[in-house]
Formats: sequence, C-alpha cells, structure tokens
Amino acid sequence: MTTLDTLYQRGFDQSCRIGKAIKVRCSQCAALVINGIACHEIGCPNAFPYDCWQCGCELVQRKHQVCASCAESYEENENDR
Ligand SMILES: [Zn+2]
Ligand SMILES: [Zn+2]
Repeated sequence: MTTLDTLYQRGFDQSCRIGKAIKVRCSQCAALVINGIACHEIGCPNAFPYDCWQCGCELVQRKHQVCASCAESYEENENDR
C-alpha cells in the first residue's frame, strides 16, 4: 500500500494528500505514477534509496541491492555451495 510516509522515504518529498487521493510529487523531478507505482525520473537525485529487489520491503542504498535480512539468507546460500 502506498502511504505518504513511504513516499517521503522514497524521496517523493512533496507528496501530499488531496481528498482521498495521494499526489506524488518530487522536488527534483517530474515524478509520475506507473501502474500504481510511484517513479522518479531517471537520474533524479531523490531516487535513492531503492526497495530491496528480493522482498521489496526495506530501503537500500543502491539499485539491485538487497536488504539486511535478504543479504543474510543470500550469504547462507553462497556458503552452501
Ligand atoms: Zn524525483
Ligand atoms: Zn529484502
């Protein structure tokens, strides 16, 4: 679910609620919503952090990085090999 808090965390710093709708706004780019997912423009300095690409739950500093808990299971799998 998209909430104002999660939008702020993801860099949409000027998001606001208008009635029942949430308006996605970023001070650094023309943020837009694609298929219900808020997106920054490419190269937007506010586009960090990203969601974990494994579970999507936590925010990580780099694209295609995983959150702490996913990184742990990741390392375990590596060691199994
Ligand atoms: Zn942006
Ligand atoms: Zn994760």
